[in-house]
Amino acid sequence: MNLRLLTVLILAALALALTACGGGKRDAAAPGDDLARVKQSGVLRVGVKSDTPPFGFKRGETLAGFDIDIADALVQQMGLKDVTFVPVTSANRLAKLQAGEVDCVIASMTITRTRAREVDFTIPYFQDGQALLVKGDSAIQSYLDLGAKKVGAVKGSTSSANMKQVAPEAQIVAFDSFVALLAGLESGKVEAITSDQLILQALAQSAKTKDLRIAGDRFSTEPYGIAVRKNQSRLRGALDEAVQGIWENGRWQLIFDTWFGPRAKFHTSSTFSITPYPR
Ligand code: GLU
Repeated sequence: MNLRLLTVLILAALALALTACGGGKRDAAAPGDDLARVKQSGVLRVGVKSDTPPFGFKRGETLAGFDIDIADALVQQMGLKDVTFVPVTSANRLAKLQAGEVDCVIASMTITRTRAREVDFTIPYFQDGQALLVKGDSAIQSYLDLGAKKVGAVKGSTSSANMKQVAPEAQIVAFDSFVALLAGLESGKVEAITSDQLILQALAQSAKTKDLRIAGDRFSTEPYGIAVRKNQSRLRGALDEAVQGIWENGRWQLIFDTWFGPRAKFHTSSTFSITPYPR
């Protein structure tokens, strides 16, 4: 037997052995594979905010916002048929994901190393930073003026931990929702409220009190990611790919311009960008 024939025979035997033990089906979905299930149903169930303008909020009977549009674009990019939006709050979004009520969460959620112990995140699809909102006549110009004053923050958000870092004396008052947070400031229950700056700006625009103002600059970095259940790397990979896809094809920019562009209600300048991985 010559050497070439022997090599061919060995390779053939190896291929047979691999197929027999399932190794031949390299693309096959493992049991409990979220991407396979999503593809089979054609529907992605996404946890989104309903009280957090401009990312996810109620407009009449429907949900609107930057995150809602991003979710729609990703679903289209992934070739799926439809999306189901499930309202979540800052406090329950991780639990709802872990309980299997949604396939992923796109909800103004910062990628933190603490959260990444419980769930997995895609690459960042946006970035903001935390700030303070106060009444127009307040003496507070930045977190440096807070002292032991009462500052409101939403439960389950990164905001209170960040606040404690920069203003350790401040008394944090926790609120269940962004609606309650804003009401807390307007009623004088707290002297300032804290969250990501674009959320605060949008809350200020929706407020009855017209002269609310941002006090000082952003004092944290909040990269927003899409959360999936732990070890669902195929779904995470598909979402990562889709995020890069909507960046490359200009859809991300269109969505950004809709919400934050020069003529948009929540106009802001941003230096955020995505660097798609080489193909
Ligand atoms: N981005 C921050 C966070 O993930 C605040 C906004 C929010 O809670 O949705 O905690």
